[in-house]
Formats: sequence, C-alpha cells, structure tokens
Amino acid sequence: MAANSSNGDHVASKQPPLPSPLRFSKFFQSNMRILVTGGAGFIGSHLVDRLMENEKNEVIVADNYFTGSKDNLKKWIGHPRFELIRHDVTEPLLVEVDQIYHLACPASPIFYKYNPVKTIKTNVIGTLNMLGLAKRVGARILLTSTSEVYGDPLIHPQPESYWGNVNPIEIRIARIFNTYGPRMNIDDGRVVSNFIAQALRGESLTVQSPGTQTRSFCYVSDLVDGLIRLMGGSDTGPINLGNPGEFTMLELAETVKELINPEVEIKIVENTPDDPRQRKPDITKAKELLGWEPQIKLCDGLPLMQEDFRLRLGIDNKN
Ligand code: UDP
Repeated sequence: MAANSSNGDHVASKQPPLPSPLRFSKFFQSNMRILVTGGAGFIGSHLVDRLMENEKNEVIVADNYFTGSKDNLKKWIGHPRFELIRHDVTEPLLVEVDQIYHLACPASPIFYKYNPVKTIKTNVIGTLNMLGLAKRVGARILLTSTSEVYGDPLIHPQPESYWGNVNPIEIRIARIFNTYGPRMNIDDGRVVSNFIAQALRGESLTVQSPGTQTRSFCYVSDLVDGLIRLMGGSDTGPINLGNPGEFTMLELAETVKELINPEVEIKIVENTPDDPRQRKPDITKAKELLGWEPQIKLCDGLPLMQEDFRLRLGIDNKN
C-alpha cells in the first residue's frame, strides 16, 4: 500500500499518493497496472487480450462472473502479469493501479432485467466504488456507458449531447415542490422558516435579490395527503405535489410581515448562484389521477407554522 494512501481524501488539492516504495523492487516491473472490471465478459476479455499484448502492462481483472466467464480469460490465468479476482463491484475494492477500465455490469436485457435493483446497484454503487478507488490511488478511469441511455430516441442518429428519451419509472414517484409547516427546522435556511423566525425575533426579513423570483408553497398536511393518495392508488407518476399558488419572495416577505410582525423591515441581501427564477407546479396529473388538490392557502398555513415556531423559540404571543 502506498505510504499515504490511507490518509483519507478530504483535502481537495491533495495530490494522488506516491506508488509503493516496494513497487520498484518487485520481480516484475510493470509500466502500467490496469484494472479491468467486468474483464471476464465479452468486451472486457477482448480488452484484456489487447492490454496483455503490451509486455509492460500488468492487468487485474475483477469480475463476479454473473455474465462473464473464466473461460474467456483462460489463456491468461497463471500468467505473471495477470491477476483474476472474483469480486462484485458493488463492494469496495482496494488495489493499486494506474488505470481503471470500468466495464462491470450485465449488458444484455435478459441479464440486466433479471434483477433490476441489483443492476442499478452495480451501476451506481459500482461506479462510486471505482471512482473512489481512482481518486484514492490517483488512477485514470474510463467508464463504459451504454447507448441504452438514449432510450427510445427522438433524435436520430444520437449525438452525445442528446439527453435521451427513457422511461425510468417503475416505482411511485412524488415530485415535491416547496413545502412548509410546523416542525420545519428553524435553521433550515429555507425562505419560509427564515422569514418566520426573523419576524418572531424582530429581525429584518432577508429577501435575497432580486426578490422577484417566485416559489409556490404547499402546507405540509396537504403534501402528506397527496403522498398517501399516491401510495394507495394505482398510478406511479411521477406526480407533482405542490401548491400552485405562486408568490414572489417580496410578496412572501410582505405577507409574513403583515401576519406576524408589522414592525420588522424587509431588506434585500445577496443571493446564492443559480437560484431558480420561478417555480410553480402543474398539478393537472395529481388532480386527475389522485383527486388531489391543496386545501390550505398560504395565509392560513403561515399562522399555523408561526404557532409552532413561537413555542420552539420560546417567544410569547405578543398579539
Ligand atoms: N430566499 C430568500 N431569503 C432567505 C432564504 C431564501 O429570499 O432568507 C429565497 C431564495 O433566494 C429562493 C427562495 O427564497 O429564491 C426559495 O429558497 P428556499 O431555500 O426556501 O428553497 P428552494 O426553493 O430554493 O429549494
């Protein structure tokens, strides 16, 4: 193991660790140590053949043999520059390498549909593990991604810039828009919680510039009702759950001021980058499929949240 490879990776500017000092005293001195995940598969094993042609390469294959086979690599088994590890990439792997070809994932529909959740794990966790390894040892990584990402394409032929036309929806998905209500974290930093806490404390309401950006705020009980309907029904969605009542941040500040503490000031402060300028859910689907529609207007929900914040902040009711 490299001398400093176990120090963690918190420092962004940290250089990749140096190779093990023992590397240069080994019986075999390779130029390039290469990990091929999924190297026992169809493309992987051909890649291994090619990599092994270079006598300076040392090749490590990690494969769980779900679709790959040792047979594909039989000419290399026992070769001094070759290692074969039975390994599932959803588990972390610690090997010192210079390059990672990350191919591990069933590629044929029969196999990737056999256990779709496992396939997702292989893609997500497997790739995270390999990215972590690459970062840790300073290796270059190549991810093989499938043209399946383009789905049933609406653009033909498919350029890399095309985001695809896929249907990844197999579970119930609620798309939650801004929600507020009692029990929100007082220091959550969200606009409603900030304004209510500020108004109760007698502090200025911090409207981030320009203040004309909009949001649509759904009271939490309405949202919960929508979630339960979605769970109980037969439609999977995604379904937008939110209150279409749209307010600018200045309007929200005015409303909070009026309802909670008319004495506080409203001040414009700096905004964070990339703040969306407008947001309002189209809830046609929720109405049609779930018979759902928010019941609580902002001017009714804010006082309910105020009561909760007052109690938690230990502020007496002044009104
Ligand atoms: N915002 C604001 N003052 C605050 C906190 C947020 O004006 O003290 C604005 C913010 O710029 C954004 C909007 O409120 O335009 C909603 O922000 P929030 O963090 O509540 O939720 P988001 O919708 O951005 O997830």
